[in-house]
Amino acid sequence: MKIYEKAPAKINLLLDVLRKREDGYHEVEMIMTMVDLADRLEMEELPRDTIIISSQVGYIPLDEKNLAFQAARLIKERYDVKQGVYIHLDKKIPVAAGLAGGSSDAAAALRGLNRLWKLQIPEDELCRLGAELGSDVPFCVTGGTAIARGRGEVLEHIANPPQCWVVLAKPPINVSTADVYGKFRANELKEHPSISNMVDALERGSFNDICDGLGNVLENVTLDVYPEVMQLKESMIRLGADGVLMSGSGPTVFGLVSKEAKLPRIHNGLRGFCKEVYVVRMLT
Ligand code: ATP
Repeated sequence: MKIYEKAPAKINLLLDVLRKREDGYHEVEMIMTMVDLADRLEMEELPRDTIIISSQVGYIPLDEKNLAFQAARLIKERYDVKQGVYIHLDKKIPVAAGLAGGSSDAAAALRGLNRLWKLQIPEDELCRLGAELGSDVPFCVTGGTAIARGRGEVLEHIANPPQCWVVLAKPPINVSTADVYGKFRANELKEHPSISNMVDALERGSFNDICDGLGNVLENVTLDVYPEVMQLKESMIRLGADGVLMSGSGPTVFGLVSKEAKLPRIHNGLRGFCKEVYVVRMLT
């Protein structure tokens, strides 16, 4: 039997870092939601006790470093599953982009294998397993829109944003999340973006207030090191996107756009100097 599972990309409408914890992680407060740019996982049971990963792209690890592999291994160990699995990753989400592609693949593998092996693991337990694989995985298990606290694994679901377009542009640089957090100084931060304003804007479904409330405290760290990310942000604003922000630790910049008629200008303007531009819908 073969099953399929979609693994959508996440964006941060808001990302705040409160402090560095004793365990080395940062205490964060984020508002995450999902967009309709997704990897697709094909999963097929194997009679042998093995995990095989393949992908159409050559630039991600296909061994135990792959997060989908780790998800399969974890579920097999915890639920004593003797069968193996072949997982093909049809990658569409750019890698190391701040869009949680690997985390979403891991989450999709957890959901899919739960179905494939009829394990009936409840969603909150899948989230707990996901937290062992990465801070963003629990959110990717549930999807929707949520405030994520702790190191990102403590979730509170809130209202989805109203339907709109999302333009994503990834400059051709790889940003290491660990490096960005390493350079971030929580005690030097003068202003924090307001979680309550964003929650309120989402509850009221106010597109304009959502655009006004976008904020990411890691943005300045990445913009300092990579002027091309700043250039991308400025271009998106100039081309008419309603709200613009870097996602996660970057380097992807996203723009929220309410009117479809604005999209060709933004898309063509960005394509002039950035090869990877995607125009997708918000997943609501
Ligand atoms: P986040 O926003 O959670 O920090 P990201 O979008 O910046 O994530 P990913 O696309 O998840 O980054 O990739 C980060 C690294 O994880 C890559 O360099 C890659 O080697 C590794 N990786 C492991 N599994 C996967 C996977 N299934 N897909 C993509 N990358 C993976």
